[in-house]
Parts: sequence; C-alpha cells; structure tokens
Amino acid sequence: MSLPLPVVGAVQPVDGALVDRFGRRHTYLRVSVTDRCNYRCVYCMPKEGLDWLPRADLLSFEEIERIAAVFVRNGVTRIRLTGGEPTVRRGLPDLVKRLGALPGLTDLAMTTNGHAFAPMATRLADAGLRRINVSIDALDPSLFSELTRGGNVAKVLDAIAAARAAGIVPIKLNCVVLRGRNESEVASLVEAFAPHAADTVVRFIEYMPFDGNDARRHHVPVAEIRERLAQRFGLVPSDAPRHGGPAKLYTVPSTGQLVGFISPITEHFCEACNRLRLSADGHLRTCLSRDKMPSLREGLRAGWTDAELETALRGAVWNKVAGHEAHLVEGARAFEGVMTRVGG
Ligand code: SAM
Ligand code: SF4
Repeated sequence: MSLPLPVVGAVQPVDGALVDRFGRRHTYLRVSVTDRCNYRCVYCMPKEGLDWLPRADLLSFEEIERIAAVFVRNGVTRIRLTGGEPTVRRGLPDLVKRLGALPGLTDLAMTTNGHAFAPMATRLADAGLRRINVSIDALDPSLFSELTRGGNVAKVLDAIAAARAAGIVPIKLNCVVLRGRNESEVASLVEAFAPHAADTVVRFIEYMPFDGNDARRHHVPVAEIRERLAQRFGLVPSDAPRHGGPAKLYTVPSTGQLVGFISPITEHFCEACNRLRLSADGHLRTCLSRDKMPSLREGLRAGWTDAELETALRGAVWNKVAGHEAHLVEGARAFEGVMTRVGG
C-alpha cells in the first residue's frame, strides 16, 4: 500500500496520454454537475445543507462539453457524472447526449442517490447513459431515512428497477459502512440483490474523512466487512473485469453474485489511480485530497483556446501528488474541501 515514486528522468509529454510524474495514465474523468442535493447523508453534508454555489459559478453544459472534449482528445475514455445529486440538475439528458456524442468516449456513467431517477431512466438511456452506480446504505426504510435525513428507500429501489428495465446495466450499488449505524445492513444488502446477480454488484465503501466530518469515529475497515461476509457467504476472490475501478471483487459461490469492497483508506489505491475530477464550478481536481487546483472555468471565460486548456490540464496532471495522507490517526490531514462540489 505504498505511494508511487516519480519515474526517474521522465519529462512531461506534450501530446499523447495524460500522464503524471509517477507514470500514471489518466483515462477516467468524474464530472460533478452540481453541488446541490435532495438528500443530506450524514457522512456527506450537514443537515442544513451547504452554502450552494451561485448558479453563475456552475459550468454550463456547453462548458462541460468543451472541457470534456479536450480530455477525451487526450486519452480519457470514460466519464462519470456525479455531484451533489446529478438528477437535480435541470436538463441532464441534454448533457448526457452532448457527452455521449464525443468521439473516443467508450463509457458514460452516472452516480446517483436514485431518488428522482426512475421517471427519467428511459430518457437518460436514450440520450446515451450506459451505466449507473446507485447509493444505498440501508434497506430498512427508517434507517435509510435517518442516514439520508429524509430519503425514501422505495424510490431508490424503483430507480434500480427502472435502470434495469431501460437497459442501463450492469448496476453497481454503493453502501458506505458506518460503525454503529448500518453495519447490520451489510449482509441484508447482499441477500436482497442475490436474485439480480446477473447484472447487479453490491459494493461496500470505507467512510472517508473529509474536512469536518466524523469519519474517525465511525470508520469500519473494509477487511472487517469482508471477513464478516466471508464467514456468512464463503466469499471467493473473483477475476471478473474491474474496468480500472478500485473495487476488489469477490463471488458468493452459492449464487454467483459479485460483491465489491472499496477501501480508499486502509488499502488505498493511489498507486494505480487513473482518475481526474472536474468540480461543479470548473476546478480540475487531480487528487481527491487536494483542494487548490486550477479553475478551467475562469480560463474558458477569459477566452482560452482549446490548446491553452490542454496546456493547463496537462500541467496540472503532470504535477499530481503521489497520493493522499488521509489516514485515520488524530491530526492527519483529511480530504480537503466539500465532497459534493468535487464529485465523490
Ligand atoms: N448523490 C450521488 C450519490 O449519493 O450517489 C452522487 C454523489 S455522492 C458524493 C458519490 C458517492 O460518494 C456516494 O456513493 C456516496 O455514498 C459517497 N460518499 C459521500 N461522502 C462520503 C464519505 N465521507 N466517505 C465515503 N463515501 C462517501
Ligand atoms: Fe447527496 Fe450523494 Fe452526498 Fe448523499 S452522498 S448527501 S445523496 S451528494
């Protein structure tokens, strides 16, 4: 679990793949389309919400498309829309259509809480959305509502069914495990989706320390969750394709169901990191742990050409840090900034 070392003698390339000093190639872009959300998950934001970005600060669809096109021309093949909650951004199918038409993009996906997704599933599929990840931290309706501060798990289950019906598969379900809160839901989630083993993967994620949250108190190491599930379901490591994703996959032998574990902290994956993030207000974030990154939006609005945009993003990627130091010891640096602006 070491951090990568700089490649000796490497020089910043002027074209080709987006590489950094550590030799990592970046092919995956996460785009936060809004910092707003219709939920207030306890691990993500305070109950009163956040100081939302003024609308004029959000990238327009034209701006997102233009920036994304430069990324794709420089080797990005996969884009994921996230937030905040992407489904609360008006006109989302239009953005999906614009991005889906970029030559060279092979995968267009979205991460959603599912609350408002079902009625727009077909429109999004028609516009070119290929896959979704849905967050679901509990099946028990009152616990779900407590963790999301008002969410409705029935709507999320509807979203999952609607995605399947619209052909947006495979579906990945994300559960952030919190000590003393939803640990009891972990096995239930695996069991509930066993009948959908063919197209649905349940994944468990470690709680990450962001500025101001209480992750150090409620963090559960992924090894502990995996051990618990292994005892119950007899998990075996899977060699199913991970498509460059960070989840370690296991199979439940009795059902063939895949279960994933994502451990940004205790078994971090910085060494193989291939991702970049574009925040809702147009900052390029090369590592989740660092906040101070260039604003591509300001460049665009100041009249940058595509070549200038490319120079800015190449420089930022080249100078990407080795990895995060967001360990769980008291006093260690947390991930900087606000998750929903950055795009979790
Ligand atoms: N609103 C959408 C959703 O909830 O799926 C997309 C944005 S959300 C920020 C993206 C993912 O980040 C979700 O799966 C959520 O559970 C996860 N997340 C948010 N805060 C987190 C934290 N402190 N630690 C780990 N995962 C977190
Ligand atoms: Fe909203 Fe997603 Fe954050 Fe929950 S995790 S508050 S659904 S952005």
